[in-house]
Amino acid sequence: MNEINNIGTPMPELPEVETIRTQLSEDLPLVVDAISFSKFAKLIVKEKKVSIEGETLLNIGRKGKVLDFYFSGNKRMISGLGMSGSWQISGEEISVKHAHIKLKFLDGDGKYVFMAYVDPRRFGKAHIVDTQRAEVLLARLGVDVSSHDFTSKYLFDQLQKRGQNPVKAVLLEQAVFAGIGNYMASEICALAGVLPSRQAREVSKAECAKMIKGCHRVIERSVESGGMTFHGGYVDASGKKGEGLKNLVVFYQKLCGMCGSAVVKSEIKGRGTYHCPSCQK
Ligand SMILES: [Zn+2]
Repeated sequence: MNEINNIGTPMPELPEVETIRTQLSEDLPLVVDAISFSKFAKLIVKEKKVSIEGETLLNIGRKGKVLDFYFSGNKRMISGLGMSGSWQISGEEISVKHAHIKLKFLDGDGKYVFMAYVDPRRFGKAHIVDTQRAEVLLARLGVDVSSHDFTSKYLFDQLQKRGQNPVKAVLLEQAVFAGIGNYMASEICALAGVLPSRQAREVSKAECAKMIKGCHRVIERSVESGGMTFHGGYVDASGKKGEGLKNLVVFYQKLCGMCGSAVVKSEIKGRGTYHCPSCQK
């Protein structure tokens, strides 16, 4: 259990946020009957510029690790989950600890549906704003790494610009690569055969192509298995833990999932990093 402190806090990354997004979206559209906040919610809700009561939640999008709730009336709620945030959905009122934003909806059959933003450490951020403001906030993020805009040319160009920085640290920059977090970055390097400590400018075009492929593989497998849970941190919107850990090749592993060699653990810019000395050069 203590080991988790050495690998850094398990924050939800793109696959975990996508899992939550899918689950929250199942009953849409839903009409907002009421919204309420905990006494700590002001630490999380950075902007409350519009009222969403009476509006319809039409759709939930995602950019990188950020959820994007679309309401009627051109209103939006942008929700970043921070280190320990998640959303829950239930047919009954959600009365768990650390529920800071509570939404009560009416569905088409006149039944109530409840959603709650739960965040023990309160590093998440929410903005309840109009569309124009929402677009400004989302523009601060780089390309979503699950989208077609994340190409090997984009990756190569961005890595070239970041010169001597270790490639793994560069992959974590949300303003460039939205969605990649600590486990994804280690896995992407491993699947491409690139040492995480290698200088960003030393990664070839062919390796960038492999990294893109690796990135899609990590996302697909993690989403399929409901996201990662490292030590009881992340739970999905139904309160279940993810089972994706067994699909990882190096992160949090003793033996490399590709060749069986012992995995080496290190730290790059303060973040726990895993690599295989046989597979990665
Ligand atoms: Zn290996």
